[in-house]
Amino acid sequence: MIERIKVKTAKHTTVINITQRVREIVEASSIENGLCVVYVPHTTAAVFVNEGADPDVVKDILNTLERLVPWENNYAHTEGNAAAHIKSSIIGNSRIIPILENKLMLGRWEAIFLAEFDGPRERELLVSVLRI
Ligand code: ZN
Repeated sequence: MIERIKVKTAKHTTVINITQRVREIVEASSIENGLCVVYVPHTTAAVFVNEGADPDVVKDILNTLERLVPWENNYAHTEGNAAAHIKSSIIGNSRIIPILENKLMLGRWEAIFLAEFDGPRERELLVSVLRI
């Protein structure tokens, strides 16, 4: 099964915790053992899994990406958002999380995040739940 999650991002660069919404899709699937694929079909957004307990971790991730990939840098892409495309490519547009006994097998401190690099926009994620 595949479900959609819609997210409205409020800032130019931000990270949104989507763990609870993914968890609800997995639980509703009733699939005991499987894989959950979270995919974002946008070229200036990304999906990643990392610490959800201390918000300073995602702050550090965003600040470090900003230093590595500055917004202005004589890019060739004329749309003006080359940095967002590059950050999206570095982080990636999907993650796979195992499902055991109908539970997402995230680590205790882990959360699933949508990263917005060229907002504010309406974003859509596709969550596929596969039985294995
Ligand atoms: Zn572009």
